Amino acid sequence: MKLIRYSFAGVEKFGALEGDEVWPLAGELGRLEAERGARPLGLSKVRLLAPVIPTKIVAVGLNYRDHAKEMGKELPAEPLLFLKPPSALIGPGDQIIYPPQTSRLDYEGELAVVIGRLARKVSPAQARQHILGFTCIIDVTARDLQTRDVQYTRAKGFDTFAPLGPAVVTDIDPADLKLETRLNGEVRQHSRTSQLIFDCDHLLSYISHVMTLMPGDVISTGTPSGVGPMRVGDAVEVEIERIGCLRSSVIAAS
Ligand code: MG
Repeated sequence: MKLIRYSFAGVEKFGALEGDEVWPLAGELGRLEAERGARPLGLSKVRLLAPVIPTKIVAVGLNYRDHAKEMGKELPAEPLLFLKPPSALIGPGDQIIYPPQTSRLDYEGELAVVIGRLARKVSPAQARQHILGFTCIIDVTARDLQTRDVQYTRAKGFDTFAPLGPAVVTDIDPADLKLETRLNGEVRQHSRTSQLIFDCDHLLSYISHVMTLMPGDVISTGTPSGVGPMRVGDAVEVEIERIGCLRSSVIAAS
């Protein structure tokens, strides 16, 4: 299933995307069901929102071998975790605001794991039972602030620094999916999820031994090589095989 959230006639709902039709869903994440008597809406009639509202976005640094090399960092022995605040979340097509505090704003195209069932101290073998599905995320980063600050909170935490979507795709195997990031139509990142140092099940297990993961929480699994800067007016898109294409663009702060 392709799970989306959308706004129509002033109401925000979950929906199942089938082709270009949106079927309204009722209930909560993890127990969604078809809304009784509902008719499908045309995709062009609704405004897509970020497909879930997480209590936290747990991100992983340096999780592709080629990206660690490009940053001049050694391969980590354990996943390097940091948090992006839920306030950074924006939906498909929403715009990234270029903050005045930075002069180097980078895209990082990433595979996002979306939690479906509360996860606390689960093993890698159990991890899949806690995953709702997978989507695309852009881990927008103020690279100069990341270098200047001891940790990543400011560099990764501005409002609009976490475009997510368009849909959470369930029932797929994330082990070997093509991931591509394009800037103004030019390919800048091109890799496969098989290049992850720590895979999705390992990450979920590892994180769940630190903090409880709630339904709707997001794990941003790290970015491959090819990260680079964006300017005001640029269009950025991340496309992951079998999942979809997440588009955004950069605007100046008002
Ligand atoms: Mg990242």
